[in-house]
Amino acid sequence: MERKIEILSNIIGIITNIVTLSPLIVFLLAGIWSYISTGNFFDVILAIPYYIWIVLLSISIFILIIKRKEKIKQSKLFIQRKILFSPDINITDQLDLHGTTEVAEINYNEAKWKIHKLNDSLYLYIRQSDPIESLLIEIPPKCLNCNTDLFQRLGFWGGYVWECKRCNKSIKSSDSFQIIGSHALAVAKSEIKDNRDKK
Ligand SMILES: [Zn+2]
Repeated sequence: MERKIEILSNIIGIITNIVTLSPLIVFLLAGIWSYISTGNFFDVILAIPYYIWIVLLSISIFILIIKRKEKIKQSKLFIQRKILFSPDINITDQLDLHGTTEVAEINYNEAKWKIHKLNDSLYLYIRQSDPIESLLIEIPPKCLNCNTDLFQRLGFWGGYVWECKRCNKSIKSSDSFQIIGSHALAVAKSEIKDNRDKK
């Protein structure tokens, strides 16, 4: 039964793709046919009434919009989990063992990001690394207006939209929480280092 459903959905997918590409397919087939019969690629294409093109393009755009909306809907259908991100995998491995403490906040890409530090100075001492390198960033970020966790979905024209469910603020972002979060963490580390060195 599952196999039949899979085959059926594949067939529907192929038909939808053909219909979506129909303006291009008709253009090419008419052009080739025209070239073979008259020696000119555009004779038959120009003979096709303009309303046929309007109908084909309208159906194609309609399907593209439906498909995109479905993809956006899918991008909302999972439970968003809170994570602490560090580019250093050794630091994230220590998280469960030692826990973290929130030490700073940074406003970046129209959102508020919380910065944490690992609760184990001995571990850092043994590794002999700069404590700043052990900082982590909390994902998701929070709304600048009301300090509420933001939610992420795909944007209609590409990229992402970050939404606040409390005040309805929405932020367009070219990249995901993870990518922008890693940038925000790098900026925070650099600023904290500068402030420390000034003292
Ligand atoms: Zn808000």
